[in-house]
Amino acid sequence: MEKRILVVDNHPLMLKWMTHLLEKEGYQVFTAEDGLSALDLLKMVTPDIIFTDLIMPKIDGEKFCQIIRKDPKLRNTLLVVLSAMIAEEKEKILKLGADFYIPKCSFNKMADHIRSVLAEADRRGEGLKRNELIGIEDANPREITKELFENRKHFEVILRSMEEGILEVTSQGRVIYCNPSAISLVGVPEEELLASNFFNLFHEADRERIKTLFSTMDPHRKVVNGEPPLRLNGKLVSLSLLPILDEDSQTAILLVNDVSERKEMEAKLLQAQKMEAIGRLAGGIAHDFNNILTVIKGYTQLSLIDLPMNDSLRKNLEEIQKATLKASTLTRQLLAISRHQVLDLKILDLNLLLKDMDKMFQRVIGEDIELVTVLGDHLGHIRADPGQIEQVLLNLTVNARDAMPSGGRLTIETSNRVIQKASIRNHGDIPPGRYVVLSVSDTGVGMTSEVKDRIFEPFFTTKEKGKGTGLGLSTVYGIVKQSGGDIRVESEVGKGTTFQIYFPQVEGPSEVEKEALAEMDLPSGNETILVVEDEEDVRKLAVKILGRQGFDALEASNAGEALLICEQWQEPIHLILIDVVMPQMSGPQLVNRLQRYRQGFEVLYMSGHPDDTVLHHGILKKGVNYIQKPFTAEELVRKVREVLNRSMKPSTPPIPQ
Ligand code: ADP
Ligand code: MG
Repeated sequence: MEKRILVVDNHPLMLKWMTHLLEKEGYQVFTAEDGLSALDLLKMVTPDIIFTDLIMPKIDGEKFCQIIRKDPKLRNTLLVVLSAMIAEEKEKILKLGADFYIPKCSFNKMADHIRSVLAEADRRGEGLKRNELIGIEDANPREITKELFENRKHFEVILRSMEEGILEVTSQGRVIYCNPSAISLVGVPEEELLASNFFNLFHEADRERIKTLFSTMDPHRKVVNGEPPLRLNGKLVSLSLLPILDEDSQTAILLVNDVSERKEMEAKLLQAQKMEAIGRLAGGIAHDFNNILTVIKGYTQLSLIDLPMNDSLRKNLEEIQKATLKASTLTRQLLAISRHQVLDLKILDLNLLLKDMDKMFQRVIGEDIELVTVLGDHLGHIRADPGQIEQVLLNLTVNARDAMPSGGRLTIETSNRVIQKASIRNHGDIPPGRYVVLSVSDTGVGMTSEVKDRIFEPFFTTKEKGKGTGLGLSTVYGIVKQSGGDIRVESEVGKGTTFQIYFPQVEGPSEVEKEALAEMDLPSGNETILVVEDEEDVRKLAVKILGRQGFDALEASNAGEALLICEQWQEPIHLILIDVVMPQMSGPQLVNRLQRYRQGFEVLYMSGHPDDTVLHHGILKKGVNYIQKPFTAEELVRKVREVLNRSMKPSTPPIPQ
């Protein structure tokens, strides 16, 4: 059978001359004018000998030799490099793995060398590998080639060290160059990547978009396409396309950037902003509602006190009272979500708190669910609002119960934990330090990762209408964040879910004692109290409640009135009950002014909107008296009495340690 030879050279003259020479010797000759078309041809033909040039477009000779040498189909093919560069770059070129190297020289001499290689090939035994340089004595090295070659190497080094993936692609999308970053981004070895189809590297859904980008390519403009990012080998990338117009071909340089990490950060930020916006909205609504509820609650209670025990209207009023109680729970929840509630922060021992809550847990989960509590030894203390922590536990327990409709196990665990350094598992955002971890696990239905991603969003629920509000976990999140803690969730569908809450450990003895049973009688007094509140309904209510219990109540609807009273009132004022946020001047500012006119009064702040401004004014400072709107008559007089009593007691000296 006729032997087959493939000649690869970008010079048409060379191809013509070689064809003529080889056909005369009795060979069947195939030609290709660049690496890419040679590789295409090799898919159909397996030649006995390949002659290849080194400097050529669309996959150069060096890469071409590498690909040939890795192709098992061509392991018996004789590979001959025929190039002008051999004279200048002997050492490097001899490493290309070809069998023979012939420098380009005069046609006559070249013909001789080619014939001797052909003769050698005939004699050659199967599998015998040569690495032989032929006719170097006939070549004359040229300085200029050497210099150009150096220059090229320099650019090659730059391209290799770029962090961006760089590829050159033909207008049909075939890859003809790729730098190491591109190779690692794509995740395909170079010899497979070269000549392959660029479009197919991308996620199916993105292919059409890239093809359109190519077909509408303007030869004079760079195109950047990053939004939305494209999916490549499990990563998100942006693509810049730089058209290159040669006299007879058009290719494009593509810069590929891995934007996965940036995208992830952006998504997190977006989520945080969303939560913030919803929080503000919720906080704003809660504020207005609290004022209204205070009035409803207060007057209802006053009416109840005034009505005889057997009055038929009592029932109606009691229903109103129940409804307002529900409404205040809701506004409290909204404030928790917006993280704008004033916390009653205390140093506390979680274990003690949990012991008191056992009954509540049992009641919530019912009989089909087994409750296991594992309280850690020597548990550190945390600083939190005990009422809020109870809320957190309640919400998590209710969810766990809902996740185990046919029974299971609820485990509540506490433990100390030291985080040494931010780890990937924590997503790196729990700072190093000592923590107390409260974990609540169930053996319930679990969640998919799509659900898990959204559970902290307010109003996100998978439960049917009427069963879920979607506020449980957003409340938990708000409370935990406001307590300086963090929350983690692990869940597996069908297996169960674990919530872990990290509270920073604090030093110091627990400040929570068992609450004394509240007395049923409303306290009374004869002290003088100045009520400063711009909201008329609330002010009138407070004055009425206080007056009923024997106090002398003075009222001021703004700063001016309050100042006037302080200046002119001859008798003592024992306590000032004052709103935190008022139009002209904030409560604390006004108190400051009032102190210039008189001393010796106590201050009790009230607010339905304890937002950031409140924090700035130091309301949360230890020792400040505070009552949250809406309050009941009972809550108000108790608080007033408590503050007044405290001011009369001499302060206890500190216990020596
Ligand atoms: P709600 O309970 O009103 O739906 P939440 O904010 O408490 O609102 O919870 C939001 C969603 O999170 C639930 O609808 C449920 O899909 C999911 N979820 C919460 N806790 C669990 C859990 N322990 N197991 C499985 N899914 C849960
Ligand atoms: Mg819930």
